[in-house]
Amino acid sequence: MPRILGKADPSRMISAMTFRLLALAGLAACFASCSGPATGPGNSLSPDEWGHRPGPKGFGTVIIDAGHGGKDPGAVSHGVREKDLALDTAKRLQRHLSGKVRTVLMRSGDEFIDLDVRASRASGKSGAILVSLHYNSSGAGIRGPETYYWRVDSHGLATRIQRGMVAVSPSESGNRGMVRRRLRLTRNPDVPCVLAEIGYLSNASEARLCADPAYREKMAAALAKAILDQQANGDAGTGALPKPIYAPPSRPTDPAGS
Ligand SMILES: [Zn+2]
Repeated sequence: MPRILGKADPSRMISAMTFRLLALAGLAACFASCSGPATGPGNSLSPDEWGHRPGPKGFGTVIIDAGHGGKDPGAVSHGVREKDLALDTAKRLQRHLSGKVRTVLMRSGDEFIDLDVRASRASGKSGAILVSLHYNSSGAGIRGPETYYWRVDSHGLATRIQRGMVAVSPSESGNRGMVRRRLRLTRNPDVPCVLAEIGYLSNASEARLCADPAYREKMAAALAKAILDQQANGDAGTGALPKPIYAPPSRPTDPAGS
């Protein structure tokens, strides 16, 4: 805005009243872009901040995030720990993607990494996507995979991942399927990002399945196929894009489920 004023006619005097009006207009524009609803085509906000655009095609890097780790075991049920299964699945997924796309493991050992650190490590990498891997826990009767996303540009990938996992899972009961939820790893990274909950460890039968390396191998293969399908085809065949939602970054102090 100062540049436009300067270009118009540097020699022209701007009255104090005009200047105040322009300053107010500038403030209004800033308020609109910072608070969200008034932004749209032509605004100066980086599209990456919100992810309000179609999903990526031809991306070059997949950041694979094994959930939890170190002092944070995640779900512990029926003799298995989420952090171990997530790390094992992340390494399997990396093997399946090897030679087809560059991969980066968020953690390669039993290491605690704060969620905000994970989000910032995944950000600022152009041509990258983030896939976070988890195993779920809730009532004993619930089973089946779930996929979480928030950004518009993550909808297609989430759809492919959920479809791929459901095709491997032998049965589902009472689970939420694909869910749009503002989480630190679905809202805060500035790259397309999806969080996969591969199965419920709180369900005895599904915990047995998830504890079986052969089952995790099948899930890793399905995840790799979903990612490579997205890389080759973008959002084609994944349905209408969801509406943009303007919401601030997710914080640890947010109420659960918000
Ligand atoms: Zn988890």
